Amino acid sequence: MVGEITLKGSAYWNVYAHERLLAVLPKWEPKRDELEQQQRNRRAGMAGEERVIEVLQSAGLPPDTPIFWDVGLPLSPSVFIQMDIVMVLRHGVLIFESKQIAGRLRFVQNPAALQKVENGEVTLVMDCPAAQFEDQRDSFTLWLATRGFRAPVDGSVVFTTNPVIEGPPNLPIISLRELRGFIRSAVQAEPVLSSKDVRLLVNTIEKSRSRFIPYPLCGRYGIDSTKIQWGPRCGCGSQLIKSTERRWNCENCKLQGTPAYGPALLDWFLLRSETITVQQCAALFGIHRQSAWRLLGRMRLTKVEGKGGKHTLYRIDYTDFEALNQLLKP
Ligand SMILES: [Zn+2]
Repeated sequence: MVGEITLKGSAYWNVYAHERLLAVLPKWEPKRDELEQQQRNRRAGMAGEERVIEVLQSAGLPPDTPIFWDVGLPLSPSVFIQMDIVMVLRHGVLIFESKQIAGRLRFVQNPAALQKVENGEVTLVMDCPAAQFEDQRDSFTLWLATRGFRAPVDGSVVFTTNPVIEGPPNLPIISLRELRGFIRSAVQAEPVLSSKDVRLLVNTIEKSRSRFIPYPLCGRYGIDSTKIQWGPRCGCGSQLIKSTERRWNCENCKLQGTPAYGPALLDWFLLRSETITVQQCAALFGIHRQSAWRLLGRMRLTKVEGKGGKHTLYRIDYTDFEALNQLLKP
């Protein structure tokens, strides 16, 4: 469960898709600077969460211990609980929120906030992650209770960058190196859930979690997809030019070869459209319709028949991470 849920889940694909968008986006695109800045934050956030998960996976727990990454659960039609990492143990449920802010940090109260302090001056004021964590914990406890689970919810904010922290004691904050100790003491408590309860709870979370689907990204950011060159790219990032049926050239590295079509199809789905027609696929790779039809038929896509066999579409399911993975590794 750890592997399948965490390693290439929605957070991974969100970062991957934005990397691809920046790779194919023309240099002159005006939205580029803002997208690059957001992507730096997204990458740092994911790196921090990955470090927390790595520590959890090496904390000496059974290898099938359920760990969820990036969980959104509806509490009411208008209220969502958003959690970085959720771990289900027989001893209770743990939430971990990763924070990667370095330097000198000061927690203040009334109202709760986190200040970044440089040379004695407050240079940045953020929402208090400890207060956010407590809010998530209360909401998740309520969510569990309304579904009949009586399990204690604990956890912590985890700082992955070793900041110097000032503030009141007893805040739910730990550093990455304290995380193993935290887990060790959590599993010393009396178990409150049976193995069957754990399985039931895992299934309930899995069924209820809603995944944020930002794709296709061009539509989301209002980027004109006709201004982007689609089709296979070289490892160096340059567009490949087709010379013969099987040969493509990279003008940048002067290399020749047969590209993998999967990653280019994945770019299409994540960035441009949820669907592709046989004709569009044939045009994308300069191949015959029959070859395009065979190529699409091999992928984990849903075929949607058009009238009289024409305009047949192939649709991707963005929540089917195996389908995305298959395209990445054809
Ligand atoms: Zn190249």
